[in-house]
Amino acid sequence: MTTIALDSRLDSVLGGRSAKPLATHLDIRTVEDLLRHYPRRYAMRGELTPIAELQEDEPVTVMAKVVEVNTRDWFDKRQRRKRVRVEVIVADDEGDRLLLTFFNQPRLTYVLKPGKVGLFAGKVGWFRRQRQLLHPDFDLLDEDDIGDDADRMQRFNRRMIAVYAATTKLVSWRIARCVDHVLDQVDSLDDPVSDDLRDKHGLITLSQAFEWIHRPRDQSDVEAALQRLRFEEAYVLQTILARHRLATEDLAATPREPVDGGLRDRFEGRLPFELTAGQQDVGGVLSEELARSHPMHRLLQGDVGSGKTVVALRAMLQVVDAGGQSALLAPTEVLAAQHHRSILALLGDLAQGGMLGGAEDGTRVRLLTGSLGAAARRESLSDAASGGAGILVGTHALLEERVQFADLGMVVVDEQHRFGVEQRAALSGKAGEARPHVLVMTATPIPRTVAMTVFGDLETSTLTELPAGRQPIQTTVVPTRDRPAWLDRTWARIVEEVRDGRQAYVVCPRIGDRPDAEADPDSGRRPSYSAVELSEELRAGPLADVRVELLHGRMTPDAKDDVMTRFAAGDVDVLVSTTVIEVGVDVPNATVMVVMDAERFGLSQLHQLRGRVGRGDHPGLCLLVTDSEAGTPVRERLDAVAKTSDGFALSKLDLETRHEGDVLGASQSGRRSSLQLLSVLKHEKVIVAARTDAEATVRADPELSSQPALAAAVRRLEESDQADYLEKA
Ligand code: ADP
Ligand code: MG
Repeated sequence: MTTIALDSRLDSVLGGRSAKPLATHLDIRTVEDLLRHYPRRYAMRGELTPIAELQEDEPVTVMAKVVEVNTRDWFDKRQRRKRVRVEVIVADDEGDRLLLTFFNQPRLTYVLKPGKVGLFAGKVGWFRRQRQLLHPDFDLLDEDDIGDDADRMQRFNRRMIAVYAATTKLVSWRIARCVDHVLDQVDSLDDPVSDDLRDKHGLITLSQAFEWIHRPRDQSDVEAALQRLRFEEAYVLQTILARHRLATEDLAATPREPVDGGLRDRFEGRLPFELTAGQQDVGGVLSEELARSHPMHRLLQGDVGSGKTVVALRAMLQVVDAGGQSALLAPTEVLAAQHHRSILALLGDLAQGGMLGGAEDGTRVRLLTGSLGAAARRESLSDAASGGAGILVGTHALLEERVQFADLGMVVVDEQHRFGVEQRAALSGKAGEARPHVLVMTATPIPRTVAMTVFGDLETSTLTELPAGRQPIQTTVVPTRDRPAWLDRTWARIVEEVRDGRQAYVVCPRIGDRPDAEADPDSGRRPSYSAVELSEELRAGPLADVRVELLHGRMTPDAKDDVMTRFAAGDVDVLVSTTVIEVGVDVPNATVMVVMDAERFGLSQLHQLRGRVGRGDHPGLCLLVTDSEAGTPVRERLDAVAKTSDGFALSKLDLETRHEGDVLGASQSGRRSSLQLLSVLKHEKVIVAARTDAEATVRADPELSSQPALAAAVRRLEESDQADYLEKA
């Protein structure tokens, strides 16, 4: 027996004829590729597949029993001759029937006989109101079909039959045959999980795991294999992340020590409110990390309104006090402008350094966005380069090459999920030799394991409480189908609030300024609400007596800024917009948030949107308008938003209903995902344990030179297409 290794090529192990279809149809080329093509499920011998549950148009593998075989003649018009069609009826235990149709293969009647049980694979179609597989591939499982084929004899004796994700070109049992062939030759494999770790967690070896996941004797074999393979996925991933962390520890950053009586202290002295305990704790952590000589890399998460900006501002001021500059990066112009305004307001004369009436040794806070006028832009650029501005607030415009900083000490990224890696790297690059400290803020709460897995190179801090005196937000679903009158009531409610001096948002899923470009692809449905149209309708109808303005992403930056400024100043009562206002917009006087076609938004997004109201002295009201029907899953999601104010819970729900791959941002190309068995949502314990172990492994041996199998697994994952999500943070 030749020893084969994980990276042995299948054409040398199986021969070209068997290996080729695996490569062509499933991109499986090595022993490891094949052994990691895990079964999708197991068919239990004797338990037939429920036929009623088969999905139309899906490739399926069905275990069923032949109950009837008929031969029918048909006339082939093209060939001008009579031919024969074999119709086989197979059934499951319920008696549900499936038609198998074979053209021009009369000899099949000798093989497919009533009473035979087999696996049948094909795509489910319909023929004369019956489910049908046309020309299915099949594999009979009766004793006398096996003959003296040793392979088949071995498989016949198994009770659990692995069913693989297959294609119509390459059916499940052909894959199984290749797997059998490989497993029979595998002796022992180099294991990325060391003996010690396996002992510690009671895990089986890699070769045992492959054996049991592909050829289990019973369910407990499968469980043991899953447990082991899941741990390995978590462990290899965490090893990569631990190495990233270690690498950043070696990078140098300029320490930014706090200065007694500096801007930071003076700013705190005049804050109109008490910092929450959480803000203080996180502030302490940041302060300490900024004073270190390697770059801080921290994710600050906190629900909408938890007061992240103040925390970031204190950190930025510490950097300014130490002679450095800070850049605050916002995802949109609206948000950048708003941050700029609110920082100026919070700092007062402390932000007027070198200006008439400014505090002595104050600093300057400059805005830099794409739409800034030439003069203001020149001022910002020059203040950035000279160091006259301690704080620069902006959009990606801050990343452009000609933006030079005198001494960039910290980068704060607000609402992280809108920023890519390259952008963060571009800004970090501006700090010269030393790396800037980095603080990433997000209001979309990220479950702990996701933070650990996806954002593994960031340490996380969380603000769990909202500042005292926060107003409650009442959320109600407005079901326009069951209760059409409620929509009128919604508009009336807005008018009442405006009468009381308050303001409202109405959010639509679509802009609607280019009807053709945005035509709803699923025709037949009512098109979704458009901000342009709805604003006109409201102005002409129910909101005729109040000041309604439109805001959307395709307006010019000046126009956007103008509307936003007037809304913030109270000169606009109702803002009809798209989700441009989703993140961070802070107008404390706004009390009503109406979301049209609410079912089209993600749960976290809805939570973000409603966080725009109830920020001042008055309770907030959020109305989720939908025509979805009661009891449907879509509607239940909206009910969940109405019921809970816990952003973490909603974010988790949101993730659960999405595909794991989407969570990780893995490519959708259909290639094998590096996380096949591990769910970042379900396997928290495994991930936490793997993280601790990986940390220890990497500390002891950063190059992994004593663990070649782990090193190889790490390399394989890093080289895979999916590895880029590791960099996403
Ligand atoms: P977010 O975490 O959503 O970015 P912000 O930082 O925008 O929250 O804070 C929301 C509002 O709460 C702001 O107006 C801010 O000035 C105010 N705020 C922040 N911290 C406190 C506090 N400790 N007490 C009272 N109000 C606070
Ligand atoms: Mg914010």
